[in-house]
Amino acid sequence: MTTYTSYPFFQFNSDLQKTESQLPTPTGTEVLVRVHYCGVCHSDVHLHEGYYELGQGKKLKLEDRGISLPVTLGHEIVGKVVGAGDQAGELPSGTVLIYPWVGCGSCSVCQRGEENLCTKPAALGVHRPGGYSQYVVVPHPRHIVSIGNLKPAHASLLACSGLTTWSAIKKIGDVHDDETVVVIGCGGLGLLAIRTLALRGVKNIIALDLSAEKRELALGVGATHTFDPTSTDVVAQIQAAANSKCVAVLDFVGSGPTVELGVSLPRRGGKVIIVGLHGGELRYPIPLVITRAISIIGSYTGSLTEQKELVEFAQQHDLFTFPISTRPLDQANQALRDLAEGKVHGRVVLENH
Ligand SMILES: [Zn+2]
Ligand SMILES: [Zn+2]
Repeated sequence: MTTYTSYPFFQFNSDLQKTESQLPTPTGTEVLVRVHYCGVCHSDVHLHEGYYELGQGKKLKLEDRGISLPVTLGHEIVGKVVGAGDQAGELPSGTVLIYPWVGCGSCSVCQRGEENLCTKPAALGVHRPGGYSQYVVVPHPRHIVSIGNLKPAHASLLACSGLTTWSAIKKIGDVHDDETVVVIGCGGLGLLAIRTLALRGVKNIIALDLSAEKRELALGVGATHTFDPTSTDVVAQIQAAANSKCVAVLDFVGSGPTVELGVSLPRRGGKVIIVGLHGGELRYPIPLVITRAISIIGSYTGSLTEQKELVEFAQQHDLFTFPISTRPLDQANQALRDLAEGKVHGRVVLENH
């Protein structure tokens, strides 16, 4: 019997447990992938805690959202195909990225190509066992994307941080040279967004962050102006810098105060795209949504088509601006704890050869 090691948790917020299991034999369209790298993502921390904050002391429990224990985390997976069921067809031989946002494949949402929004989600590392493991079973070969010449550890981050940022940016649509995009929150995703926007030719990018150090980093990757969102008259200062032509706001914090600020910024017909899951609630006069014709859009991960576009884009541009470090798979528990406690600078990717 061949066994493999994985690191699931059996109770929310309890330690990940080293577990030996029998190596599964893939059947039908399934593909067995040997995991070489798996990113430790901030959403893993939320999944491990078991809830999202809804504001006013309310919590959205993940148990009520179809997530059942035990959970093997890890949705940023890079590895190699080592086996497949008889209906999987031809598979790539090189290093591959797994698109983790798996849906049922047959409902109208999946048929539209928005598998990440399927009402019967089967996401790897969330609903199905993920990449904090030596092996992972991928349900269908369509979820397997060749990474070409990308560095494998870097490519892993394209499955979540990269894809989430890319999909949010795609929702903006065309940006004219005299228009401005505002980015709220200059952590990993915010900086990635600023860099991607600049590489896509956006001329005016305003970055907001509480930290002077992060505002400095934002300028380094392509922001044209930065502001502290708590400074007095910040809205007037942003409108002056944007010449009142803010076409979209990307909010990578997603807290009550940031969304309230974000909603006040777009020109008529503009968009507020919320990505961050900090939590809280929004109160805003409804008639102003209509007369300003603004769209308030939630953006959650991205589609398989967007994943493929991003992998291609990343092969042409050096996207990552933050440090990426690797740790052995057997340090999964500590890596997750360190991220939760804010001790990680940049991103950690688990490595397993
Ligand atoms: Zn579906
Ligand atoms: Zn993630």
